[in-house]
Order: sequence, then structure tokens, then C-alpha cells
Amino acid sequence: MTHSPPRDALERWVTGERVMPLPGRSITGVPAISFEFFPPKTPALEAQLWACVERLATLQPRFVSVTYGAGGSTQERTHATVVRLVQETKLVPAAHLTCVGATREEVDEVARRYWEAGVRHIVALRGDAPAGQTYTPHPGGYAYAADLVAGLKRVADFEITVAAYPEVHPQAVSEAADLDNLKRKLDAGATRAITQVFFENTTFLRFLDKAVAAGITAPIVPGIMPVSNFVQAAKFCTGCGTSVPDWMADLFDGLEDDAETRRMVAAATAAEQVRFLQANGVDEFHFYTLNRPDLVYAIARILGVKPAAV
Ligand SMILES: Cc1cc2nc3c(=O)[nH]c(=O)nc-3n(C[C@H](O)[C@H](O)[C@H](O)COP(=O)(O)OP(=O)(O)OC[C@H]3O[C@@H](n4cnc5c(N)ncnc54)[C@H](O)[C@@H]3O)c2cc1C
Repeated sequence: MTHSPPRDALERWVTGERVMPLPGRSITGVPAISFEFFPPKTPALEAQLWACVERLATLQPRFVSVTYGAGGSTQERTHATVVRLVQETKLVPAAHLTCVGATREEVDEVARRYWEAGVRHIVALRGDAPAGQTYTPHPGGYAYAADLVAGLKRVADFEITVAAYPEVHPQAVSEAADLDNLKRKLDAGATRAITQVFFENTTFLRFLDKAVAAGITAPIVPGIMPVSNFVQAAKFCTGCGTSVPDWMADLFDGLEDDAETRRMVAAATAAEQVRFLQANGVDEFHFYTLNRPDLVYAIARILGVKPAAV
């Protein structure tokens, strides 16, 4: 006995809206990628980081960046991690640096130490006040990231990356003021922006339109965070002004005790996000790795990035 779908179902499929296929990889080309790591706190986390670095290094990222803990709390660990990257790998490291809790002279000194250690790329950020407090510039410090960019350029000719906010920075006076701020950071000497994490691609693409209309020409690289621990990610997003779409909450609903399925959902969701952006012409991606390589490695492969032949 043969089985065929009821006639009305087939008709629905035949008459349903047809969407364009995603362009093939021979059309989109291979994107440039970069990775963000955080400096490890314990020997176990240190081992995890270096295993992650080793695996992702094979994908030949344009650069890898190392975060700076809130209020400069990881200054020495960030420095040690970045210097080890310089000394023991062929990767190009970028050190995150913030304005918080330090005078200009102290920040300049950190930058000078980086330059002397061979580090040529800084991700320049304002940073945040401790939880529950309002940000106020340190007396004698750099007040905002744009001031820091200008200060760093006076120290040495660093390559400088800054932050951008497709959903507007939570403390911005207005969307227009936030875009002006991004432009000021680039005019002060930064050559690239990386975005805060976002999940709605249309928000990002609209942001690019607005940036171009505001006269910004430097690349605004999407910051991609594959989400497998939804509860933790949602908490982080609330703090940084990223909206978590209902569809995403729905995808992870009921998977709290099923880590393996969550990882598969995470990979598929992030793959869909980056392939859509790639189809829309985006050819550079920055991945928040959380020092875990597997999801990012798989997603980079899906984008067409292959490990270098050894
Ligand atoms: C890619 C990326 C990496 C990050 N890495 C780190 C990290 O390693 N460590 C860390 O602590 N944090 C990090 N952050 C978080 C960042 O420090 C916070 O988002 C912080 O609140 C803003 O930093 P910013 O550099 O964007 O600040 P800014 O560009 O200085 O802007 C901060 C706010 O001030 C407003 N503003 C700017 N100039 C003025 C002015 N003159 N007058 C009034 N308002 C003004 C802006 O519109 C915005 O609302 C990162 C964020 C991103 C997107």
C-alpha cells in the first residue's frame, strides 16, 4: 500500500511562499573571524583556556582578544594571558582595556607595558561601575572610551577596536547620541567596532544602515555568542541591554536538564544567525567563545572556515 499526504496538504506545500536559498559558499567566500577569551582564574580554567586556544588557532583567526575584568580586576591575568599568546602562539592578540578605576597615567602605563611586550592591538572600552552603582569617571581618568582611544594613540600607534551597540547602549542619552559616540571613537583612531551580543539579525542590519547614514565607514563586526546555557545568557543580556527574543526562550523551554540538546540547539541557532548575516554580505565575525571551543569551531566550519593545512 502506498502512502501519500492528503491532497490539501500537498496543495498547501505547492502553493506556499518560496524563499530564496542561502547563497552557496562559493559566492559568499570565506569570512574573517576573531575570537574573544577571558583570562582564567584557576589552574583548571587555565588549562581549559589553552586547550580552547589551541583548537581555535587552527582556524587562523584575524586576531584573538582577551577581556579585562570589571574595574580592571583582571589586569594582571589579562596581561599574562595576552603576553603568553604573543610568546607561545602565532596568533595576533588584542588586549581589552577599560577606563574604570584608574588615572590616565595608570592606564597609559598598562598600554606601554603591552606595547613593550609586542602587543599592537587594544580593544578600548569605558567599562562599567560595580553592580548597583552608576558609572562616574575616575577623577584624573579617561572618562569615556573615545577619550581612551585618543590617549592610547598618544602612547603608541596601536590598532584599536571599540564597542558598538545595535540595540543602543543602556546608558546612552539617545540612539543618535550613541551613534555619535561610536563615530567619535572611530574618529579618535579606532579602525573597527565589535558589537554587543544580539540575536535579531534585522536589528543589526538596521544598525548598519544607520551607521552608514551617520558617516561611519569602518567595519562593524557582529559579536556572536552561541547560547547553550539559556538561563545564564538571559541574565547576562538583561545587564547589557540585549533583548532576548521570545522565540529563543521558547526554543530552550523545558531543556533546563538536557545539556546535550541545548548544545545542539545552540549550534543550529547560531549557525542560522551567521549564515543569514553572511547571505546579507557580512564577511567578518567575532565570536564570544566563553573559553569553550566546540560550538564556535562548528559554526566557523559552517561559515566555510577550514583549519589550516599542517
Ligand atoms: C565587544 C565588547 C567587549 C567588551 N569587553 C569588556 C571588557 O573586557 N571588560 C569590561 O569591563 N567591559 C567590557 N565590555 C562592556 C563595556 O565596558 C560596557 O558595555 C560599557 O558600559 C560601555 O563601554 P563602551 O566602551 O562602549 O563605552 P563608551 O563608548 O564610552 O559609551 C558608554 C556610554 O556613555 C555614553 N557616552 C559616551 N561619551 C559620552 C559623553 N561625552 N557624555 C555623555 N555620555 C557619553 C555612550 O553613549 C554610552 O551610553 C565590552 C563590550 C563589548 C561590546
